[in-house]
Amino acid sequence: VFYTLYILVILYCEQGLSTNILVFFFLFQWEEIGEVDENYAPIHTYQVCRVMEQNQNNWLHTNWILTEGAQRVFIELKFTLRDCNSLPGGVGTCKETFNIDGTGMTEEEDRAMKESRYIKIDTIAADESFTELDLGDRVMKLNTEVRDLGPLTRKGFYLAFQDLGACIALVSVRVFYKRCPFLVKSLAEFPDTIPGSEASQLVEVVGRCVNNSLPLYEPPRMHCSTEGEWLVPIGKCVCQPGFEEINGSCQVCKVGFYRSLLESLACSKCPPHSVARQMGATACSCEDGYFKLDSDPSNMACTRPPSAPRNAISNVNETSVFLEWSIPMDTGGRKDVRYNVICRQVLPDGRGLEECGPNVRFLPRRTGLSNTSVMVADLQSHTNYSFLLEAVNGVSDLAKGHAKQYVSLNVTTNQAAPSPVSVVRKGHTGKSSIALSWAEPDRPNGIILEYEIKYFEKEQDSSYTIIKSKDTEMVVEGLKPSSAYIFQVRARTSAGYGAFSRRFEFQTSPYCEYTKEKERCGYSKAKQDPEEEKMHFHNGHIKFPGVRTYIDPLTYEDPNQAVHEFAQEIDVSYISIERIIGAGEFGEVCSGPLRLPGKREIQVAIKTLKAGYTEQQRRDFLWEASIMGQFNHPNIIRLEGVVTKSKPVMIITEYMENGSLDTFLKKNDGQFTVIQLVGMLRGIASGMRYLSDMGYVHRDLAARNILVNSNLVCKVSDFGLSRVLEDDPEAAYTTRGGKIPIRWTAPEAIAYRKFTSASDVWSYGIVMWEVMSYGERPYWEMSNQDVIKAVEESYRLPGPMDCPEALYHLMMDCWQRERSNRPKFDEIVCLLDKFIRNPSSLKKLVNSSHR
Ligand code: AMP
Repeated sequence: VFYTLYILVILYCEQGLSTNILVFFFLFQWEEIGEVDENYAPIHTYQVCRVMEQNQNNWLHTNWILTEGAQRVFIELKFTLRDCNSLPGGVGTCKETFNIDGTGMTEEEDRAMKESRYIKIDTIAADESFTELDLGDRVMKLNTEVRDLGPLTRKGFYLAFQDLGACIALVSVRVFYKRCPFLVKSLAEFPDTIPGSEASQLVEVVGRCVNNSLPLYEPPRMHCSTEGEWLVPIGKCVCQPGFEEINGSCQVCKVGFYRSLLESLACSKCPPHSVARQMGATACSCEDGYFKLDSDPSNMACTRPPSAPRNAISNVNETSVFLEWSIPMDTGGRKDVRYNVICRQVLPDGRGLEECGPNVRFLPRRTGLSNTSVMVADLQSHTNYSFLLEAVNGVSDLAKGHAKQYVSLNVTTNQAAPSPVSVVRKGHTGKSSIALSWAEPDRPNGIILEYEIKYFEKEQDSSYTIIKSKDTEMVVEGLKPSSAYIFQVRARTSAGYGAFSRRFEFQTSPYCEYTKEKERCGYSKAKQDPEEEKMHFHNGHIKFPGVRTYIDPLTYEDPNQAVHEFAQEIDVSYISIERIIGAGEFGEVCSGPLRLPGKREIQVAIKTLKAGYTEQQRRDFLWEASIMGQFNHPNIIRLEGVVTKSKPVMIITEYMENGSLDTFLKKNDGQFTVIQLVGMLRGIASGMRYLSDMGYVHRDLAARNILVNSNLVCKVSDFGLSRVLEDDPEAAYTTRGGKIPIRWTAPEAIAYRKFTSASDVWSYGIVMWEVMSYGERPYWEMSNQDVIKAVEESYRLPGPMDCPEALYHLMMDCWQRERSNRPKFDEIVCLLDKFIRNPSSLKKLVNSSHR
């Protein structure tokens, strides 16, 4: 007999969802009875009550129950159970429990088979049992028991209720499983989820962000418990920019509103001076003339550059100006207003304005000032300046096309004394003299009229000496040997004296002691003529620190000492004499190789002193070496050394393949280009510039005393007895008894022996003439007397044939009667360099009338 019944109760838990499973019953020994419940509603129950009979085993089976994917199901039983004590006839076989059994067998297996395969889930006892009396009232005391079953691995299962001799009425059986229901939380959707099989297991579920939303930081997750509850939410979704959350979904921002940040909740109204013309704006754009920096917060108003600073005033203190102003009327809506200063010097005579140079200092700085004042220092004295003050803010750079607004201030600085001389350097040091040099002060604040040098012996500052110099160098003389002196220098302009430099301490050389650097003992004993000594002071022989001054070998008591001071002694074994190349006053001039140990072999000229010389001749012969040895210049013949320890005594110089210039030119008449000739002249001028810088006056500059090497480099030579000129065949006795090469010599040197670098310049002009005429004799066959007379009467050599006019002009300048009007050697070098750089300046040749 099959009788079917289904009970369907849907029951929602607070969080979870219980899904009931359809259950059918198959009765065996159990009876189906119609009754009423507490509320007198009709109900069906399954009953069994065979308490009086032995060996009961009564089954109530369910149909095959599909799990629908659930891994754990719950079984809720409602039943009544009769109290055995209340039964008439004693307790006998009466039971007060029954079994609930389950099996996972397949649907097709037969019942008998099933019963043997059931597994007991539990033995169920009643919390309350009823007696006959209760029944009489027709009120049942319902017991409710819930059991769970799992983990379930198959698609379905059977349930059965086994009675072993109790009196039971089964009112309802509800089989259900729990689910975590579909959920939208924090803009994330979590699907309907079946929990895990274990009692405390949590199933992690990754949510999906709703439309127009994005996960914030990480994908949202929730955990589904076995109770069907969503637990432990992690992460969340937020509306993407341009959308806002309204009632759990993302709605687009309206026109005029924007939302840029994931963190912000709602769309915001565009800040001042910005607009959003379309829906869904993620940012607002600035109105015309307004700007926004990337670093500005999105809710900040758009801003614009500030207006000009106001109320600018200046306060002058000597060569400094203090500028002060107030903040602009309109800061552009920003707090980051800064100020820039533009400094311009007003040039005299309406020549306009010029940017201030890098020497002007701005305190604390020139641009990006956050305070409304600045100190401008180290301006030139007595000068007009125009300052422009500009206010800028963070968006000024973005507003490039917009006109800047400035406030301008005109200022005139006062007179100021020069700034202190910063460094004083020591040049050549003698036992009683120290050469000093220094640089102009950083800020002269005018034209420097002179310098004052204050000095005193160290620790004797009670008495000091002050000397003056117009130049930035000076030889301080009259000092004690081996003594420390303190020097300070200050500059004077029309505004007065500047401060003294800091103290510099220098020491004089010891008395008569030779050192490796060829410290010259006896320097102070120089019997210089007073005229030259003055030159020393004012013009200073020391043009740059480190360049030595020529020392007259006469200043040495023992001429041998001078030779060894300036010339290296060479062992004769290093020299081989190969050829005779000329004849000198003291003996042959030879050539051959010089092999100094550890040095490359070079070709040298060897001047010998013939046997049978007197001590005076030896001294005169070596004189040249003492002079030549002091020079080191590519256009001065270089001394390699001397041989004095063996005989014959020799002077060894570099070898000049082409011999003396006059014969070389005669031999090569017309063979060179003008530029080659100018190149030779440039070399001679450069050598002469060096000699004049050294304070050496040659007195016998002539083409015959210039030597030429294989590269056409010309070098000044013949320093022999240049003071006495005994050896020059061109030298003639003057009325005053001196011997002078008349044709090459300046009139003042002929007239009163005024030999200076300016008279060397005259001779240089003659050498130019010799070169440009390929070794022609100056004034041809005119007598010396006629030459003196003609020059006196302003007659000058005519321009040589094919001589560029510019060169002839230079010669004529060298032959100015007034010696101070003649060019200096450095001007000559500079001019010749110009001609070489620009040969077209030599195109124009002297016309025949000049010639
Ligand atoms: P001096 O009388 O000392 O000028 O020398 C006589 C001649 O020797 C000169 O006219 C040159 O022809 C030659 N002479 C002198 N020194 C050198 C040198 N360094 N190289 C080549 N030839 C020289």
